[in-house]
Amino acid sequence: MPYNKNMYTTGYYKEPGPKLDEESPFESMMERFRFAAEVLELNEGMFQYLASPAKQVTVSVPIMMDSGEIRVFEGYRVIHNNLLGPSKGGIRYAPDVTLEEVNALAAWMTWKCAIVDVPFGGAKGGVRCDPKDLSKGELERLTRRYTANMLEVFGPDRDIPAPDMNTDEQVMAWVMDTYSMNAHKTETAVVTGKPILLGGSHGRKEATGRGVVTVTLAALNKVGLLPNKCSVAVQGFGNVGSVSAKLMYEQGAKVIAISDISGGYYNENGINIPEAMEYAKNNDNSLEGYSEAEKITNEELLQLECDVLIPAAKEDQINRDNASGINARIIAEGANGPVTANADSILEDKGIMVVPDILANAGGVTVSYFEWVQDRQGYFWTEERVNRRLNRMMRNAFDNLFETREKHDITLRQAAYVFGINKVAMTLKMRGLYA
Ligand code: GLU
Repeated sequence: MPYNKNMYTTGYYKEPGPKLDEESPFESMMERFRFAAEVLELNEGMFQYLASPAKQVTVSVPIMMDSGEIRVFEGYRVIHNNLLGPSKGGIRYAPDVTLEEVNALAAWMTWKCAIVDVPFGGAKGGVRCDPKDLSKGELERLTRRYTANMLEVFGPDRDIPAPDMNTDEQVMAWVMDTYSMNAHKTETAVVTGKPILLGGSHGRKEATGRGVVTVTLAALNKVGLLPNKCSVAVQGFGNVGSVSAKLMYEQGAKVIAISDISGGYYNENGINIPEAMEYAKNNDNSLEGYSEAEKITNEELLQLECDVLIPAAKEDQINRDNASGINARIIAEGANGPVTANADSILEDKGIMVVPDILANAGGVTVSYFEWVQDRQGYFWTEERVNRRLNRMMRNAFDNLFETREKHDITLRQAAYVFGINKVAMTLKMRGLYA
């Protein structure tokens, strides 16, 4: 079917409902999906199928607060697609999480798993809460009740959660335990990103940052830059940002800026990242007061002149308002959706190479896959083996997307969508429709 700009406008997502902000993650995801659908000449039915989440679950999560009062939170799990296998994706705890956002994140997981070639579909979960305001006991009760409400959704062969924003190994341990108590047996493979003692994998914690760095090095190589000659700015100093910064630092790169919720920190001579990590660890996980660098704003950090910018905080950071001020050669997306679709063409016009989230941060789910395999086999790998295989899979994915990019003369992001969507579409064609 020939290119038609007006195609794919009807159907599931356009049914009556609130008009979504053009810069929302969901619209950004759909905008790129539409482009890929046109390149792939998907027919309308196939488009509808792949755009529609297979299952969306919303639950109330009532818990007893420490004060003795009951409070009710809202929790979500969206299974976007499970054609390639059980669905996979993290659970985030955030005050502003919405079903719409979880829908976008779940779809990204589908394309991400297809790109790195792990046998999973895509899913995502969230609970709308501010974990900063919850005690450890409240967080545990919230996690257990959310899991209890999702017992029919989760399962090692069905849907496998993992950490995401504001959830960690401890939260995964509670998910595993709650599921296991109900299954009357220990079911380690129901969740990944667990503590190593409970069937977690070596290297899982660092996997996302390690993957970011693997593809950043591959991208630097393509533009003819050496890691030890380049400057890097990293937005966000959580798990993904700090590990990416540390590994780039170990490659000899000059990390000139880092940031967290307390603001940005800039040093033109480079920041000693292991020291900054130690500082944050001893300072309630915050860089507040870090004195080895000049204080800048988050916005200033994004606009710094540098070779590599790694946005590893949250969605919508680089958008139509600030994209023209970005001065990096390469953007490697550690976060999911840090660049909106409106910013894509602005960055492209500036000649900036964007290594898209669904490739750049796929190291996390790749080692989640390794963890799931190890749990099911009851045989555990060394960290060295995990890292070697992670590196190989990330390199392969990068090379595949680069090839797709050249074949269609498109950007690396567009190539990522084309590659991922094509694989899932081919799977659907082979499996056919049930009933
Ligand atoms: N939450 C991570 C992501 O966005 C990891 C998902 C997983 O390991 O299942 O990719």
